[in-house]
Amino acid sequence: PVSAGPLLDAQQVLMQFGGLRALNQVDLSIAHGSIHGLIGPNGSGKSTMMNVLTGIYQPTAGQVVFNGQSLAGQTPSHIALSGIARTFQNVQLFGEMTATDNVLVGLHHTFKSNTLDVMLRTPRYLREDAAAREQAASLLDFVGLTDLSEEQARNLPYGKQRMLEIARALGLGPRLLLLDEPAAGLPPADLPELTKMIQKIRDHGITVILIEHHMDVVMGISDTVSVLDFGQKIAEGKPADVQSNPAVVEAYLGS
Ligand code: ADP
Ligand code: MG
Repeated sequence: PVSAGPLLDAQQVLMQFGGLRALNQVDLSIAHGSIHGLIGPNGSGKSTMMNVLTGIYQPTAGQVVFNGQSLAGQTPSHIALSGIARTFQNVQLFGEMTATDNVLVGLHHTFKSNTLDVMLRTPRYLREDAAAREQAASLLDFVGLTDLSEEQARNLPYGKQRMLEIARALGLGPRLLLLDEPAAGLPPADLPELTKMIQKIRDHGITVILIEHHMDVVMGISDTVSVLDFGQKIAEGKPADVQSNPAVVEAYLGS
């Protein structure tokens, strides 16, 4: 059901680690169908926000509502299945497994088969497995990895590993995809391809939160950009306005 209002609404999120407020009363509202950039100097709280939005951290205070439902007390796997998928700042793949199998691992989380179905290879399991293989192939095609689908993940060039992570996250069928610095470590020549892919994902109706240090990437494709500095949101708006905001310039110069 399409709810009125934002797809995700975080209000007054406080994340405290001992005496450090990694997030300090942050509001974040993500519009349906948008690409929402999240930027800020190192240590400003961007990844912490991702961890709150995916249930890895329970915020010290504040609340997050996704698609009309509070995330309070929900486990990361429940949140993933309810429509928020992510990639990590540092690639997290099964290096020994093929690209296809890395995607299949994600898809298996969406199976209805139980352990007994799997062990006995029941018709239900075989049906789901065949469908998953087809879906894995189309996801790998979507991210341009068809030719490398049977390579071990660890043997893929770094840029391709990042694409594989995106394919795996998309396998969850998310409404919202969180990308934590997807361009980090990519050769500049790969950036246009990544940019196009993120736009293609949005064109499929998936809302995207994009954490990114490459300003041309994030400013080029975001509808809205929010800026964190020392755990606080210091600016928000259209890319051009945010870029010329003196507080933002100051935060980056000071870092
Ligand atoms: P960013 O992604 O913007 O670079 P992070 O969200 O990773 O920043 O970190 C924000 C701040 O919170 C940093 O000072 C970091 O050291 C701290 N921090 C993040 N996670 C933890 C944790 N699990 N325990 C203690 N401090 C943390
Ligand atoms: Mg980070």
